[in-house]
Amino acid sequence: AAPSKKVGVALLGLGYYSTDVLAPAFKFTKHCKLKGIVTGSPSKIPSWQTRYGISDGNVYTYDNMHSIANNDEIDVVYVVTPTATHLKFALMAAAAGKHVWCEKPMAMTVKECQGMITACKKNNVKLSIGYRMQHEPNTRAMAELGATNPFGNIQAVSAFAGYAGRAGPSDYWRMKPEMGGGALYDMGVYAINGVRYVTGLEPTAVKARIEHTAGFDHVDATTYFTLQLPSGVEADCGTSVVKGFNHLKIQCKNGWYELNPMQPYSGVVAKSSTGLVLPAFEGNQQAKQMDDDALAILLDKAVMVPGEEGLKDINIVEKAFISANSNQAFVN
Ligand code: NDP
Repeated sequence: AAPSKKVGVALLGLGYYSTDVLAPAFKFTKHCKLKGIVTGSPSKIPSWQTRYGISDGNVYTYDNMHSIANNDEIDVVYVVTPTATHLKFALMAAAAGKHVWCEKPMAMTVKECQGMITACKKNNVKLSIGYRMQHEPNTRAMAELGATNPFGNIQAVSAFAGYAGRAGPSDYWRMKPEMGGGALYDMGVYAINGVRYVTGLEPTAVKARIEHTAGFDHVDATTYFTLQLPSGVEADCGTSVVKGFNHLKIQCKNGWYELNPMQPYSGVVAKSSTGLVLPAFEGNQQAKQMDDDALAILLDKAVMVPGEEGLKDINIVEKAFISANSNQAFVN
């Protein structure tokens, strides 16, 4: 039977993704409720309280959020801030005894990812990374093909995740390498995770080449990379914040399957060489992700996308930068 209780969630960091995408998605969830906010911007508070009926007692700042420990209405803190701040906020949430949902990319380094995993274990809270595609039904159907292998051995893989954006102001965190700006952190993790999740194979090496674009002086605007997969196949990958490529294709000995486009919020279509066409999921991806993660808490089950998943991708991101800077393949 479905649990009757709902998980209370506090969104931490009220920027674009929280405001425009996550908060409105709660109305499509069954197992969680937006109960609180944690913000560094007092001016944002009144409109959030009005729009989502958030009580005064459930509003926190980054400075007083340790006291969220005493708030029984909040079970989860969902960290939705610049990448370089994920570790800091996740540790604060875990120390307050709250489950942690953390947006992708998980953190800046493998060491930071390990710190987050250790802190959540120590505080006995669950940690889920916000890889919404692993909850998306068509993506899951393609991973099922990857697991059952009906078309024979994989011969070629391509994964390209990008969007045609424009350079932002130079003080915006997405334009700063030390904050996690640039294509590899922002979008590259979709290509990396897509390859790993759909094929079930763990890359053994990465070779990367950064393409510079005017306006993106300090971060990678586009990065092309190959992932060496076990059995000798190379995945041909690319990621960009200036080019709108977006697809994942697995070519096997006797056929192929693909996601095209592979990671928009809606409209992900799956196809295979046998004529299979899975039309786009009509539900809300973020609501599905939050419900899956809420059920893991309510039923005390393993989460679908644990910290280890984020860590493996960040390991490849780190190695891709070393490769691009040294012009050599880097063994994982
Ligand atoms: P924004 O820049 O729009 O918002 C980030 C918010 O983080 C700010 O508004 C601020 O909120 C808070 N914040 C805390 N510390 C800082 C700091 N030092 N500098 C700047 N802001 C800070 O970013 P997004 O919402 O687009 O992205 C946030 C996270 O969500 C990223 O990790 C990103 O990768 C992820 N994301 C995931 C998506 C997905 O599809 N899964 C899609 C888009 C983003 P406040 O004023 O309340 O303190």
